[in-house]
Amino acid sequence: MTNAYFEVPTPYNEPILSFAPDTKEREELKKKLKELRSKEIEVPLIIGGKEVKTGNLGIMTSPQKHSKKLGVYHKAGTKEVKMAIVSALEARKAWADMPWEQRASIFLKAADLLAGPWRSTLLAATILGQSKTVYQAEIDAACELIDFLRFNVAFMAEIMMEQPVSSEGFWNRMEYRALEGFIFAVTPFNFTAIAGNLPSAPAMIGNTVVWKPSSNAVYVSYFVMKLFEEAGLPAGVINFIPASGAEIGDYALSSPDLAGVHFTGSTKVFKGMWKKIGDNIQNMKYYPRIVGETGGKDFIFAHNSADIDALVVAALRGAFELQGQKCSAASRMYMPHSIWSEFKEKYVAEVKKIKVGDPEDFTNLLGAVIDKTAFDKVSSYIDYAKESNEAEIITGGGCNDSKGYFIEPTTIVTTNPKFKTMVEEIFGPVLTIFVYEDEDFDETLKLCDGSQYALTGAVWAQNREKIAYMTNVLKNAAGNFYINDKPTGAVVGQQPFGGGRASGTNDKAGSKMNLLRWINARTIKETLVPPKDWTYPSMEKK
Ligand code: NAD
Repeated sequence: MTNAYFEVPTPYNEPILSFAPDTKEREELKKKLKELRSKEIEVPLIIGGKEVKTGNLGIMTSPQKHSKKLGVYHKAGTKEVKMAIVSALEARKAWADMPWEQRASIFLKAADLLAGPWRSTLLAATILGQSKTVYQAEIDAACELIDFLRFNVAFMAEIMMEQPVSSEGFWNRMEYRALEGFIFAVTPFNFTAIAGNLPSAPAMIGNTVVWKPSSNAVYVSYFVMKLFEEAGLPAGVINFIPASGAEIGDYALSSPDLAGVHFTGSTKVFKGMWKKIGDNIQNMKYYPRIVGETGGKDFIFAHNSADIDALVVAALRGAFELQGQKCSAASRMYMPHSIWSEFKEKYVAEVKKIKVGDPEDFTNLLGAVIDKTAFDKVSSYIDYAKESNEAEIITGGGCNDSKGYFIEPTTIVTTNPKFKTMVEEIFGPVLTIFVYEDEDFDETLKLCDGSQYALTGAVWAQNREKIAYMTNVLKNAAGNFYINDKPTGAVVGQQPFGGGRASGTNDKAGSKMNLLRWINARTIKETLVPPKDWTYPSMEKK
């Protein structure tokens, strides 16, 4: 029972720690890296709060050193997905009935545990398992996940307060119930914060979840699950089942009890999931809420009034940090001819300074791409450019997978605005630049808007009229639009994230819009003194 309206703590963005030499956080992280590196772990499934071991094992390795085994994980098969769905359905009643502020408390506790004693563990696991540099791990595995948890609690509280008006004699109320059935959360490899957010956002509202982490991020996802458990998450609310998506996805997606899908990953996989649900809709009890944030082909469009020095930094960071494996990474750029040579000279000089290597050497800006498949895919795009007479490589181009999956920050300049690497998502450290004639500004803007994707994009100009013009012409080209900034680095609560077209359903992760998808509202009308006469005054004769 709740006997008061509770105000939740005002959310704030977790400050980014510096990890500069001689800081406490740097020392702790180094210790944790050493500790995790020196042991192998065995990751079980966690269903209904219990560890389940299937014996069907996958190996967890480090992208920067593929001979380094981090441990093994047990993979779920159909039997275990069934168990996880049953467990989620059983846990649902008590969890959905729990007062919302009690549920909120668990996730606020998880946020504070992560800001404190768990920080170095999630950071070290993200560095070892996903090849993130310290800074990239900090803004993801610590700050963004903490922000998701704190801000979502505040958004949930806001939603609970939204009530309809009542006219005389009635009291109207809105109740924000969890969906019936279970939520299937399927997470990508590239963000620990997304891995934590996709199952926890619906769970906070009172839903129960079957969570399939990416096979390339099981290592850190397991620690996220343990963090939720330590924060007091009851058994069965989130069921953790690493598995091959292709093997177990179909079973979960055709379950009659499917209430929703919370997905982030590639466009192709999401479309396949949507189709599977569609094919099975006749057998389903509910219309599943389908939320997916998917691929991108994110742009930087420069006008000739752009500040060149700042643009160099934005292009370099936007395209290459995290090895270009951000859904928001700049991967196509439109440069006006009149400023091209000055930009090129400065840009090439800076990119040449970038160090690529093991992120445990804190001086590196880039680590390795996630696995052999990604390495082969990205290098094949680079080879394609090397062989084309429509393209020239002006930085990088080198790929080496002898120890880890390392790819140099590569810049392709093309004469064809529809060149393969200008239109397809590569998901690696590759930026393609098209140089346009200044007088073709309008036409080139339209070309930029022509992408099948619409996730992020940045325009660069100092001329305000041109900024306003570009903002208008490109209004549907990106769900996250930046002016004089890089197109990456959205912060929860400040730049709600998501895109349209083939980039997703744009339900803005870490916002009220997202939480509303996991709610099945009930409207309650209470008549205080019901009428006892069925006739209306208009029926009287005189
Ligand atoms: P992916 O699509 O390969 O995998 C995502 C998840 O889907 C994984 O857990 C995978 O195992 C699972 N999966 C694969 N096939 C499945 C199936 N048939 N049924 C059920 N699950 C299945 O993506 P990835 O390589 O992990 O991540 C990179 C992609 O994610 C890129 O396209 C990137 O743009 C996108 N991404 C988008 C955003 C965003 O907010 N828009 C954020 C991060 C990543």
